[in-house]
Amino acid sequence: MRFTDEIGWVLRSARFMIIYCVLDQKNRLILIFKLLFAVIIFFIKPLLLEIRLYQYAYNLNKAGIAVLVIFIYSCISSQNKKNMDPEHKNNPHYSRTDTTHLKVSDEEWKKILPKDVYNIARDKGTEWAFSGKYWNTTGIGTYYCAVCGNPLFKSDAKFASTCGWPSFFESIQPGSVTYHVDNTHGMQRTEVLCGRCDSHLGHIFDDGPPPNYKRFCMNSLVLEFEPDTK
Ligand SMILES: [Zn+2]
Repeated sequence: MRFTDEIGWVLRSARFMIIYCVLDQKNRLILIFKLLFAVIIFFIKPLLLEIRLYQYAYNLNKAGIAVLVIFIYSCISSQNKKNMDPEHKNNPHYSRTDTTHLKVSDEEWKKILPKDVYNIARDKGTEWAFSGKYWNTTGIGTYYCAVCGNPLFKSDAKFASTCGWPSFFESIQPGSVTYHVDNTHGMQRTEVLCGRCDSHLGHIFDDGPPPNYKRFCMNSLVLEFEPDTK
C-alpha cells in the first residue's frame, strides 16, 4: 500500500467517524448498511475480474459512485430530518398566541430544543445552503419561530432567492424580529433575532427586491411553516 493510499484511508475513516457522530439512530443504521455494501463490493470486485466478468465489474464501479452520491446527499438532508419534536411537547414556552417576551437561559433551551435547532438558535450557527426545507418553498401561509411559536413572516413577503436560504423582504410586524450588530467572521452584518425568545434566525442584507430592497436571509431549521387553511 502506498503512503498516499494510507493517508486516504485515514481521511476516509475520520470523515466516517465525524458523520457517524452527528447522525441520529436511524441514519446511523443506514450508514452502517452502506458501509457494509461498500465492503462487499470491495471484496467481490477482484473476484469478478478474476473470472473475467469485466463488464459486471465496470457496472459495480458505477454503482459505487451512485452509492457515494446517495450517501453524501442523505448525510446533508438528514441535518433537517432529525427529531424536530413537531408538537413541541417538550417545550413549555412554545405558543403561537402568547406574546410575552421570554427570558429562558441557554442551559434550559439546551434541554428543550433538538440539537440542530439549538445550534442555530442559541449558538448562532448557519445551516448549509440549499439544505434547509424552506429555501425554495412557495406555499401560502405563515412562518413561525420554531423555538417559541412567534409569527415571523408571511409567505407573500418571501421571494425566490438564489442564495440557498429562505429569503423574505419584510417581517410580519415590525416588532416580530429584533436586530443586533454582528461583527463576527471579519464581517459587519446585522443579525436578526426572534422578537419573543431572542433566538438567532439569520441576517438581513440590503440586496433584496423592491419595495424596500431588504433580504432577510433565514435558516429553515428555526422556522416552521403553517399553510393557510383556505
Ligand atoms: Zn422565538
